[in-house]
Amino acid sequence: MATPQSRSYITTPLYYVNARPHLGHSYTTILADTIKRHREQRGIQTTFLTGTDEHGEKIEQMAKSQGRDTREFVDEVANDFRDTWQKMGLSFDIFYRTTDPNHIRAVQHALQTLKDRGEIVFREYEGKYCVGCERFLTDTEVNADGLCPDHLKKPENRKESNYFFLMSRYHQALIDHFEKNRNAIRPEQFRQEMLSFLKQPLGDLCISRPKERLTWGIELPFDSNFVTYVWFDALLNYLVATGWPGAQWDSNLWATVNHFIAKDILKAHAIYWTAMLMALQVKPAQELQVSGWWLVDGTKMSKSLGNVVRPLEMEEKFGRDTLRFYLLREMSYGSDSTFTLENYVNCINAYLANGIGNLVSRVYTIAKKNLGVVDFAEADLTDADRRLLSLRTKTREAWDQGFSELKYQNSLKSWCELVTACDLYVNEMKPWALAKDPTQKERLQVVIGVCLRTIQALGGIIAPVLPNAAREIANALHLGENHFDQIEGAIEDRTHFDLRDEIPKLFMRVQMPQAE
Ligand SMILES: [Zn+2]
Repeated sequence: MATPQSRSYITTPLYYVNARPHLGHSYTTILADTIKRHREQRGIQTTFLTGTDEHGEKIEQMAKSQGRDTREFVDEVANDFRDTWQKMGLSFDIFYRTTDPNHIRAVQHALQTLKDRGEIVFREYEGKYCVGCERFLTDTEVNADGLCPDHLKKPENRKESNYFFLMSRYHQALIDHFEKNRNAIRPEQFRQEMLSFLKQPLGDLCISRPKERLTWGIELPFDSNFVTYVWFDALLNYLVATGWPGAQWDSNLWATVNHFIAKDILKAHAIYWTAMLMALQVKPAQELQVSGWWLVDGTKMSKSLGNVVRPLEMEEKFGRDTLRFYLLREMSYGSDSTFTLENYVNCINAYLANGIGNLVSRVYTIAKKNLGVVDFAEADLTDADRRLLSLRTKTREAWDQGFSELKYQNSLKSWCELVTACDLYVNEMKPWALAKDPTQKERLQVVIGVCLRTIQALGGIIAPVLPNAAREIANALHLGENHFDQIEGAIEDRTHFDLRDEIPKLFMRVQMPQAE
């Protein structure tokens, strides 16, 4: 069995089934997929969880408004998520659903444990309730007009008796945890945001909903008149998926968990979830990685605004791997980014079709036509050849640095620079001219060999982001299609290359779709 250090556990949020898969979901899922591939290339066996969050008031109302059976409705949306990620080739290991009986048992176990320990109490409460948020808002949370800042709706006044998790007990422990663990929330701005949030008084968390108002939830094990608040239910998935609370709980895997989320659910993860884990006497998550939002034409995506981008349609229309590349190259992690079709099309053409695609087909065409098999001696490399080859290691280092600093954009930029450097090398060395000169046959072998070594490095380094293109490069160079499963496959000093017959066509140029 692998040691804890050689394993890791990464999660996306469980997506709420009130919407179909859109760009925001895709970004987080694609990023997690990329991280998994990146880590596995470096020998870290990685378990990747995604799934769907299926309980709550909004879901029940939505199914009802469409005249649908709630169960049938959540099954359909959950399948849509699973199919979308599968068709996009995302390598998740666990697709978790909160309506799964095992999850329900584990949530009830957690509730009973906390109740028995005196961490849950029954109280009457009156306050401002936002149906969109599915919770009471505090006075400091409503905006100047008395509206929910996220839903821009006036919260209803509600008076209810409910069960509360005594989160306020963990106020100081949360402050200590986030002060001491600098990597607990990244990028840093979000850790600061949570520390400043914790400067205000911390309330208790209402964790029940009376059944007269909501039946679509997990029943409290100690009071059948209530179901569990959807966040309390859903957050537990991350832990339950590692076998908690059974005897088979893989606590070593749990200890490595990194949650990938977007900033709108930071508080639920940093505050509620961390306090819940503390109360359950389980180690809090190792790391929360927080992204900004994807905006479409400057507005946050939403179905009601009609600006929803469907990820699968994008890849079907513009080519495999293209959305992965665009999203990771475009977003500065932690900040908001704007999706425009024009930028997407330009990105594909500039970096994929005209970039790596053109470089590979250009080098390959000359090599096939004039050589077929490439053989050269290390001793024949010139200074200019060595300069280009040394960039491979630099690019790999910059790539890994970007990943460790969560500056994924920088990783992709440095990779694009290596493509450009290789293109310039081809322009300068003019292999097409060498091919016409019988006295330059050996030099031609060297120049093409240097290009192929560089292309091999480009394929191996980019494999976590462009898995399909990387496989095609490995095939074209006769390396075997799993050659880039280990990062060591990227940078090798081969002096011999066999080439496959077909010239690989990695990416096609695309056009802006015409308005209909
Ligand atoms: Zn709200």
